[in-house]
Amino acid sequence: MEVILAEHMGFCFGAQKAVDTVYEQIENEENVGRPIYTFGPIVHNEEVVNDLQRKGVRVLSDLAEAEKLPDGERGTVIIRAHGVARAVRERLEKQGYTLVDATCPFVKRIYNIVEKESEAGKSIVIVGNAGHPEVEGIRGWSNTKTYIIGSLEEAEKFTPEEGEELCIVSQTTFNYKKFQDVVEIFGEKGYNGSVVNTVCNATEVRQAEARELAARVDVMIVIGGNHSSNTRKLYEICRQECEMTYYIQTLDDLHLNLPKSVRLVGITAGASTPNNIIEEVQNYVRINF
Ligand code: SF4
Repeated sequence: MEVILAEHMGFCFGAQKAVDTVYEQIENEENVGRPIYTFGPIVHNEEVVNDLQRKGVRVLSDLAEAEKLPDGERGTVIIRAHGVARAVRERLEKQGYTLVDATCPFVKRIYNIVEKESEAGKSIVIVGNAGHPEVEGIRGWSNTKTYIIGSLEEAEKFTPEEGEELCIVSQTTFNYKKFQDVVEIFGEKGYNGSVVNTVCNATEVRQAEARELAARVDVMIVIGGNHSSNTRKLYEICRQECEMTYYIQTLDDLHLNLPKSVRLVGITAGASTPNNIIEEVQNYVRINF
């Protein structure tokens, strides 16, 4: 049996940078005796979060939790790659926390677009999943009305107000093809405004490669955290091409009972999956099958 790895997989540039930032802060002398937090898990991967926890880094789930901590426990807060709304940053600073910003530059680019376009009076349409922290963050940089469109049906139903100008952007991890379809629906409605494709290149490349790989293998393994939206999308894409697609978090979840006819196994991984987990899985599959 042959194992084929996707060329691009695992930690993307933004996730790597965010995780590196946390390790740098652990080493930073200025943090000696001061607690370090990440605002939400730094990446959607339990292994990474647990390792950081062992090194003393705690996760702040929200502003309310930050508010409850006594003054002496208000240390450094690292903003993860997804970023946060402007109001959240301001609030944390007001509460006395020192912010270290690990927002991915590609996400920051969206903040800049949203800020500028909303200041120019346009309403913002974010093509993405409502409730996802990145989408909530992007929404929080708009000064005007913001709509979130997560599906083609929602795009079909959407009617702008009379004379309303729109700026359409997307969540970085949104499926590129679906984003194009949503934009096409808006186009058919004759909307007024601009479109900026803000799907991250890392996501596009991973999705295209995963689709191509899944179409030529017998079994496909997708590795990533349960809450990782980009891993879930990779899984959906692979499942469309390859019926025997497995979604696992770590090697422990892999219980393969493969038919003898299986010749090719493909492996890909979400953007928040560390290399050591990918290595473990591929070694296991190579040795055991
Ligand atoms: Fe940045 Fe892209 Fe990674 Fe998101 S997927 S963190 S935008 S590099």
